[in-house]
Amino acid sequence: MTDTPDAAALAAAQEAVADRAEIARWAERFALLSDPSRLALLYAIHCCPGIRVRELAEVAGMVETTTSHALRLLRSAGWVTSTRDGRSMRYTLADDAAHQLLHIIGSGHAPGIKHVGDGARHSF
Ligand SMILES: [Zn+2]
Repeated sequence: MTDTPDAAALAAAQEAVADRAEIARWAERFALLSDPSRLALLYAIHCCPGIRVRELAEVAGMVETTTSHALRLLRSAGWVTSTRDGRSMRYTLADDAAHQLLHIIGSGHAPGIKHVGDGARHSF
């Protein structure tokens, strides 16, 4: 290991930042995580996949309208997906990136929740 990267490493770094549109998409997506309430909702969704809005509001200590607004933002940025279940919506993580990130930052599962398939999905 040298003190300064060589030309090949610098060229690789330049290539790594070349796709600014992709970097901007991730920056926009990560920006949503700067809010503790939204991050708390992601923890709860990871812990309890299929959780409903009313249940999310209750466990996060938020009012339902605020919870619904936060979930719309998280869904539009690709963090969560929703499915209709009668009159309510159920929420799950949208992809493996969201899932892996939550594990990296210490978010766990409720007892009985296991990973299936591509890793982004849980069985319950
Ligand atoms: Zn998990």
